[in-house]
Amino acid sequence: MLSIRNHRLVGDHVAFRATPNTGGALKPRYLVLHYTAGSSAASSIESLCTKKPQGNASAHLVLARDGAITQLAPLNVVTWHAGISQWLGVEGLNQASIGVEIDNAGPMSQVGDRYVAWFGREYPASEVLMAAHKHGGPVRPWHAYTAVQIERCLELAELLVQHYGLQDVLGHDDIARGRKQDPGPAFPLASIATRALGRGDDAPSRFVVTTDGLNIRKGPDAGADPVAPPLARGVLLRLLEPGSRWSRVEVEGPSDVEGWVHNNFIVAVKEAPRSLRPRERPTPPKRAKTKAAPKPAPRRAKRAASR
Ligand SMILES: [Zn+2]
Repeated sequence: MLSIRNHRLVGDHVAFRATPNTGGALKPRYLVLHYTAGSSAASSIESLCTKKPQGNASAHLVLARDGAITQLAPLNVVTWHAGISQWLGVEGLNQASIGVEIDNAGPMSQVGDRYVAWFGREYPASEVLMAAHKHGGPVRPWHAYTAVQIERCLELAELLVQHYGLQDVLGHDDIARGRKQDPGPAFPLASIATRALGRGDDAPSRFVVTTDGLNIRKGPDAGADPVAPPLARGVLLRLLEPGSRWSRVEVEGPSDVEGWVHNNFIVAVKEAPRSLRPRERPTPPKRAKTKAAPKPAPRRAKRAASR
């Protein structure tokens, strides 16, 4: 379990290495999440701890693919992760946010049946997700985050929101729109933000499919490609992004499917009636062929938010 003592993270698999790339005192109001677009946590830490002739960068925390966390600066000291950025009238989010860099190669190129990161390394299809960025652009391959990274990030976000009373959990792509794409569509940012902030407790967040063969699509449009076989009646969904006609949902269960469904064929449930529960799960689709995202940790008791 993670905790904070004197602006330092304390817990299992947490290490500290001081970066020289820091500014003045910080009173954090936001958490900003990034991918490193690097080849390893170690190489990213090295780079974030190096003074360069120009383009010095840093962050408070680096989250490795095995869940290990390296802290580079106390959480009440400014680090340089946001660059030119703005959010709700705040200009330059370095002065107002804690930055977490998550080890992830970022967008890939597809060369035949191979997936290649910008630095030349190839990744297997099992580590790649096909998705479009929420701010537009084509469906393309992105490096998948590991389950333990997402679990750890949720724990971290809950802790930081609680400890510092943070107002929001944001992506670099939210505060530097058009300039940055991280953490990108492979990261379940909306779901982590909702949970960490304890929002949506009053609104129903679980839905059930009310028709047989409901298409789940890449976008909020009947012409968008399906991301998985049609959903059976009774399949449970978690609401990620509500819309007036279409909503983005995540299918509950082990298949990790995420996509858009028409609101006419889903209904909110507090607790799903037993008779509507699916008897068997659909076969998990191939990861690289779907807009699937790694499944976040199961929702836990609201202990953190209520304390
Ligand atoms: Zn970033």
